[in-house]
Amino acid sequence: MNCPYCGILFSLDGVNADHSFPKFSSFHPYRRVPSKSDNTTTDDLAKKYSITSHRCPDCKKPIMWLNEIEGDLGAEERKIISTTLLFPKFPVKQIPIEIPEKFAVDFREAHDTLSVSAKASAALSRRCLQNLIREQEGITEKTLFSEVDKLIKSNKLPKHLAKDLDSIRQIGNFAAHPMKDTNTGEIVEVELGEAEWTLEVLETLLLFYFVEEPKSSARRDALNKKLKEYGKGPML
Ligand SMILES: [Zn+2]
Repeated sequence: MNCPYCGILFSLDGVNADHSFPKFSSFHPYRRVPSKSDNTTTDDLAKKYSITSHRCPDCKKPIMWLNEIEGDLGAEERKIISTTLLFPKFPVKQIPIEIPEKFAVDFREAHDTLSVSAKASAALSRRCLQNLIREQEGITEKTLFSEVDKLIKSNKLPKHLAKDLDSIRQIGNFAAHPMKDTNTGEIVEVELGEAEWTLEVLETLLLFYFVEEPKSSARRDALNKKLKEYGKGPML
C-alpha cells in the first residue's frame, strides 16, 4: 500500500488497523426505531466487503480502504481481491511549491479527475498545457497543435521533452478530433492512455519550467560569476 498523503510504501500487517464489515441494512442515520426488515446484521453483500481504517505509519493521517473479499464469511480461506481508497477521496498529489498556483490548481484537478473521467482529466490537462505555453513562451496560435509545433521548433526544450510533447498530438489523434485542438478544455472523446500521458507530460513540463530550469540557470550564473573572478569569459 502507498499512503495517499505522503506516498510512503507500507504493509498493513505492520499497522494498527481496524477492520469491519459494512452493513447494507439495519442502519439508517435518521431512523431511531429499526424496522423488522432491518434486523439482518449481515447479508450477501456484507460478506464480500470489509472496511479497513488506520493512520499512516509515517505521516499519521487517517486512511480508509474498501476491500473486496473472495470466499464466504466464516470460511477458512478468505482473501482480499481488490482494494479501493475511500478516504481521502483521491491520493494527494504532491506539487512543488515553485509551481504557480494557477497551473497547480488545473494540474491537481486533472490528476484528481483521472480515475473518475479520463475525458475531463485530459481536457483540464490540455487547457493547462495551452496556458503554460502561452504564458511561459508567449506563443499564441489558433490551435494547440500549432502552439506545440512552434514550441518544439524553437528548440528551447530538451530533446526528450520535445519528443514527449509532440507525442501528445499523435496519441490524442488531434487530426480526428479538432475540438481538442481548437477548444482546449472541451470535453471530447479520448484515445486509450491519452489522459494519463497528457497529464504525465504536463507534469514534466511544469517541473522543467518552474523547478529544473530555474535551478540550472542559477548554477550557470554561479559558474559564470566564478569564471569572471578568474578573468575568464562566460562558459554558457
Ligand atoms: Zn503518510
